[in-house]
Amino acid sequence: MTKAQRTALSVLTLLSVLAYSGAARADWKIDRARAVAAKAWNDPCAGAVDVELGPQAGADWLAWTVPSQCRITLAEREPWSWARLCPVLLHEYGHLAGYTDPTNLLDPHHSSNPNSIMWPFTHADARCAQRGLKYLRARSSGRRAAAA
Ligand SMILES: [Zn+2]
Repeated sequence: MTKAQRTALSVLTLLSVLAYSGAARADWKIDRARAVAAKAWNDPCAGAVDVELGPQAGADWLAWTVPSQCRITLAEREPWSWARLCPVLLHEYGHLAGYTDPTNLLDPHHSSNPNSIMWPFTHADARCAQRGLKYLRARSSGRRAAAA
């Protein structure tokens, strides 16, 4: 995605957020997937991530993120089963965390590895198994222990 596209999407997202603010807050799946994604990416935006529903910004887009605003918009027309939602939020939180793959010259904000959650197409992720509970209950890998 070019910078120009990203800027245009920011405007669209802002408009959609104004129209649909708060619409996504009551769903347990969103809360659970946010917790899984926050753990996976070391809590980007210090927990202040807005997840909203809005009109699709692109014909085949499931979600989009404005990192500077800590905002994720989910396509409102998607039914959002857990199996779909959890990997998508894991991916979008990766954008909030500033993920880059410098070896992916055509799209450095995504991975060129189809097994990575940052591959630009959605796929299942083991952290989402059992509705994320096993992953959420697992001890941290130790990277937080050093960051006191
Ligand atoms: Zn992406």
